[in-house]
Amino acid sequence: MEIAKATPLADNFYLGLPFCIPTVPSHCGFCLFPTQDYKGNSGMQTYLEYLEREAELYAPFLANDRLSSMYVGGGTPNLLKAEDYGRLTAIAEKLYGKIPDDVERTIEGIPQLFSKDKVDAIRAAGFNRVSMGVQQMSDKLIKYSGRRQTHRQVMDALDHFNAAKLAVNVDLIYGWPEQTVADMLRDLGELVDQGVRHITHYQLNIAGRSDFSKAQRELLPSLETTIDMYKESCAFLRSKGYRQATVYDWEKVESMPGRFESPNADRYQYEQNLRDFLHADDQSVTETRNMIGLGYAGVSFPFTWPVQGGPNWSQMNLRNLDAYFQSIDAGKLPVEKQFLYNKEDLKLAWLFQSMQSMTIDLHNYAVAFGADLLHDYAPIFDELHKRSWIEIDAKQVRFIGLGEFFIPMIQALFSYARLNEMRGGLKQIVEGKKIINILETA
Ligand code: SF4
Repeated sequence: MEIAKATPLADNFYLGLPFCIPTVPSHCGFCLFPTQDYKGNSGMQTYLEYLEREAELYAPFLANDRLSSMYVGGGTPNLLKAEDYGRLTAIAEKLYGKIPDDVERTIEGIPQLFSKDKVDAIRAAGFNRVSMGVQQMSDKLIKYSGRRQTHRQVMDALDHFNAAKLAVNVDLIYGWPEQTVADMLRDLGELVDQGVRHITHYQLNIAGRSDFSKAQRELLPSLETTIDMYKESCAFLRSKGYRQATVYDWEKVESMPGRFESPNADRYQYEQNLRDFLHADDQSVTETRNMIGLGYAGVSFPFTWPVQGGPNWSQMNLRNLDAYFQSIDAGKLPVEKQFLYNKEDLKLAWLFQSMQSMTIDLHNYAVAFGADLLHDYAPIFDELHKRSWIEIDAKQVRFIGLGEFFIPMIQALFSYARLNEMRGGLKQIVEGKKIINILETA
């Protein structure tokens, strides 16, 4: 496919490692990501070889792109042995050339696998940031997830990161089974005291096949308590000098002496790129920030931008590991499905990302889409305004009060009409097939 490249393309480059330690309940009780049970290092080695081969297939498509940030997620990437982290940064360097020092390179993992040796190997391989999925600090509450992690391991890992001069993000979940507001504030307080400068504090997502959703619902805090948790956590983190970058991202610009002092340790470039993927100045979109995801279930958004007329699409790699391997053996990109965006879809994708930061830049929208946001979605903005969930001035729409908490639902509201239209389309296809069948048998 010919890709229009009049606007420079900067890539968020993602590598996915699918393996996780099995838990009871499965998938840590809450996780909805596609993963595979870890069965040992030989499976990991096979997978790494295929990941390297997939990158070779991608090379011609990325030849003119610039690496803006790199992120290794999963799954549980710190299941890798110390000697293998360099293979991940080598994949990025093969595609993009030598990586400048200031490019953010993040790797995710779970606390109990961040041993000192491994953390040092991660640093030596060129990573400058880690994202640790802690979720709960309490040894009692973490048990609901079946994870075998301890509070001590969380604290030790933070010390290893600090000694290795790695910037760090810690993920915590609120709305966890049996969690109280006091539990939540204690966890946040411990991270603040440790000098952690980026905290992702997000609400438990109760959905689908997860054990928390199906079997532990009665243990979850009520909606009222969860709203209280959101409000209390915001007040607490603000009082400690943190800035709210999104509904769930908290950044501390000032470092504590001797703790996480590396430049930009508060910043999260990968997330920032996602939120600002059509980066505009006063006149035009100056850079398109793409998402290129390799590996099992990797997701890509190789957007151009609307004025160039596209194509703009999203795609997801195969979620069947054998099929992923077979596709690469056949010399084909291991893509499971693609969705081609029309202009309305691109607007919705941009709005979805903007809303994450609780503001929508009216000028940026006008520059990117040649349209007036408030006019395009007038009935929704009227309703949000009536409820005092937004403030509007000449430059931006800002979500306030309960409007912040309900952003995920407001995002669904914006896409509701388009989703129904597409579902109608699917129904029409099914109806159409029925008609063809009837005609054929008549
Ligand atoms: S370790 Fe992380 S990716 Fe794996 S199942 Fe648990 S939450 Fe999901």
